[in-house]
Amino acid sequence: MTVTDLLSYEDALASYDPVMGLEVHVELGTRTKMFCGCSTELGAEPNSQTCPTCLGLPGSLPVVNAIGVESAIKIGLALNCEIAQWCRFARKNYFYPDMPKNFQTSQYDEPIAFNGYLDVQLEDGEVFRVQIERAHMEEDTGKSTHVGGATGRIHGASHSLLDYNRAGIPLIEIVTKPIEGAGVRAPEVAKAYVAELRELIKALGVSEARMEMGQMRCDVNLSLRPPGREKFGTRSETKNVNSLRSVERAARFEIQRHAAVLSSGGTIVQETRHFHEEDGSTTSGRIKEEAEDYRYFPEPDLVPVAPAREWVEELRAGLPELPRLRRKRLQEDWGIADHEMQSVLNAGALDLILATMAEGADAASARKWWMGELARHANETGTELAAVPITPAQVARVSALVAAGDLNDKLARQVIEGVLAGEGEPDQVVDARGLKVVSDDSALGAAVDDAIAANAAIANKIRGGNLAAAGALIGAVMKATRGQADAKRVRELVLERLGVQG
Ligand code: ADP
Ligand code: MG
Ligand code: ZN
Repeated sequence: MTVTDLLSYEDALASYDPVMGLEVHVELGTRTKMFCGCSTELGAEPNSQTCPTCLGLPGSLPVVNAIGVESAIKIGLALNCEIAQWCRFARKNYFYPDMPKNFQTSQYDEPIAFNGYLDVQLEDGEVFRVQIERAHMEEDTGKSTHVGGATGRIHGASHSLLDYNRAGIPLIEIVTKPIEGAGVRAPEVAKAYVAELRELIKALGVSEARMEMGQMRCDVNLSLRPPGREKFGTRSETKNVNSLRSVERAARFEIQRHAAVLSSGGTIVQETRHFHEEDGSTTSGRIKEEAEDYRYFPEPDLVPVAPAREWVEELRAGLPELPRLRRKRLQEDWGIADHEMQSVLNAGALDLILATMAEGADAASARKWWMGELARHANETGTELAAVPITPAQVARVSALVAAGDLNDKLARQVIEGVLAGEGEPDQVVDARGLKVVSDDSALGAAVDDAIAANAAIANKIRGGNLAAAGALIGAVMKATRGQADAKRVRELVLERLGVQG
């Protein structure tokens, strides 16, 4: 199936109701692996961070990572889940070269957290509640690299390399209940959910949740049904989608593809699919018509996990302020409207603004620079705001110079331009470009006299009491001083020279 075989998005949603299920894997930021003491540090020499336990050698015995369990409980609590009184690990048996034990230690019918929800805010401010089925603990697999083929895939490769450094790194898998009722907004809900979950994970400090580094990845399950029908349609499962935008695109593509198949009388096969960044399409992976038989059974080498209620309550009490509430509080503190806060979030500016405030800037000016000048620069250069080459400390310095009256807005913009162009720190740009507000009367007086002499008619109007006309003379002085004059002082001097009261 190619992109041309899709039904238009509008037609698809006019005829069908989408149902989604999102499975998100989060790699925890623990120092050691889930069941052994091997380091989880990235970038090490392949297979240098392995031991008999994570290589599954006979006779080795796993031990649960306490921070892994603690992180799982924190995630469960933040997702409003119930926390199991008692639960176990299970072996999920399957053969795959990147899994040295030939089973993955996971949780099956006894997850540590279950029955929760996450409220997510859509772009127009509406809040959508996503129900959470479960969050369970498991471990990551190793990594295969296929060598010799053109595509990097196994087809056409001459040989494969295996790196087990990642095998055994703790993962938390978070599974939603079927998401119904999102309608045309289903792709947006999917994206907003993953975005909110990522913020939550970061706020909890359990993982950096960097999707581009595979620390968080999402499987998008999707099916369509005729409107009004209760029974779900057959789903497809698009695996390992690793950016927010791709989550949205994958859901959208699958809606259009399913609709094209169904409306032409075809049937959807239950299968996994691969997502392709280049054109936003998905292609067929494994057929999964019957539930796979993983021969799950309780892991005999690990003791059950029975978190004491006091510990769970302690963790609940210690949860940080959660992202949605924090955003609400900031919005109130700053006294801005919903849509203004929403554009701050959409621009990815919130953390930058807060960092700038932490460096001493006030909220209004931090917001103004990031949402104005710097957002424009990001747009023009096609980069993310966070990647614009200026630091919150530098923005704070510019705003301090404005607050002290050393720079006006126009000069401040030039300073920022200089910093972005690699001319150094704000103070260096100020010195090198000679950007300073001139407020000293001897320097301004001459420029004011010149402006009055060159604009006699306007000067007369002002003498006659038309104070609004002073703007033209102030403008002339600003121009003559290349924008560096202190406009307030210029106005005072103009009125003084013309003998009128401000
Ligand atoms: P698996 O482990 O095979 O992926 P799960 O039962 O864990 O299966 O379901 C995966 C996700 O898909 C869950 O989020 C679930 O809510 C969702 N889901 C289940 N059935 C459907 C369906 N027919 N359409 C859309 N989503 C579904
Ligand atoms: Mg799945
Ligand atoms: Zn190990």
